[in-house]
Amino acid sequence: MPGFQDILGHETIKEHFKKAIAVHKVSHAYILAGEAGMGRKSLANAFALTLLCEKGQTEPCLECHACKQVLSGNHPDLIYVTHEKPASIGVDDIREQINDTIQIRPYSANYKIYIVDEAEKMTVQAQNALLKTIEEPPAYAVILLLTTNPDGFLPTILSRCVQLKLKPLPDSMIRGYLTEKMGVSESQSELYAAFARGNLGKAKRLAESEDFRQSYEQILNILKNIRQMDISQLLDAIKRLKDENMDLHECLDIMQVWYRDGLMFKVTKDANLLIFKDEFSAMNEMSTRIGYDGFENILNAIDKARIRLDANVNMELALELMFLAMKENS
Ligand SMILES: [Zn+2]
Repeated sequence: MPGFQDILGHETIKEHFKKAIAVHKVSHAYILAGEAGMGRKSLANAFALTLLCEKGQTEPCLECHACKQVLSGNHPDLIYVTHEKPASIGVDDIREQINDTIQIRPYSANYKIYIVDEAEKMTVQAQNALLKTIEEPPAYAVILLLTTNPDGFLPTILSRCVQLKLKPLPDSMIRGYLTEKMGVSESQSELYAAFARGNLGKAKRLAESEDFRQSYEQILNILKNIRQMDISQLLDAIKRLKDENMDLHECLDIMQVWYRDGLMFKVTKDANLLIFKDEFSAMNEMSTRIGYDGFENILNAIDKARIRLDANVNMELALELMFLAMKENS
């Protein structure tokens, strides 16, 4: 577990934490919001490590007793709140692990830190129980709520927390990481960065995943043969991918980037701007065949499929409508 300097990007949040430490104005409750893979846990851990470090600087020394305890997961003043039920954090979880222990002074540090991961899973009762604590916390208490969705919190919780939202990293930063730290080729790194949309964890996962590479090849096959395949063949192909644990949203991401690339090439004729650089001939051919309206219709259809899947519309129906639009406009 690293300090702030080892975390890529997120400068605003890192500066916020470091400044709070430097001027001794650490708040009692924070919300760190961002999608999975963006680095909420790394930031929370770095903050906790720095607060507990005996040297009291704005980066942890990684050598003192406290740092070593944190790094080995054994610091008594750093509590990771767990929950019994996978889908929810109940009032008992909060009472037993936070409310009943927070009045006990820290054992060795100046702070006692609670990290609640998946905090959006707190029930309303759990949030109300937590509220009692963050309304009048002891001076040494710091509670970090990590969440993908801060909209799920009660307004009373939101108003008592410092809210920090993780922003997507620039593609160039993600590409740099993949090529320099993971040895990914330039053209592949552009692809992964495009799909990861600023989420480093996702980019790393894609770059490491053999499954993703295989599914990706199969989706390109579908896209290249979309005019020859009928709807039932297309649906079968997607179902096979889904059976192989391909995430449907990632399928749609690939399709979206594919057609966006085609449209961009139609507009610019600049092969350097392509994300699918290795697919130049397919892009060139597609960009002459499909008109501007056609690209727009297809991209809209992919957006709609995504919205329908999120709204739990029948998967086959959502995909069928999308494929119809793709075939009609190709
Ligand atoms: Zn230290």
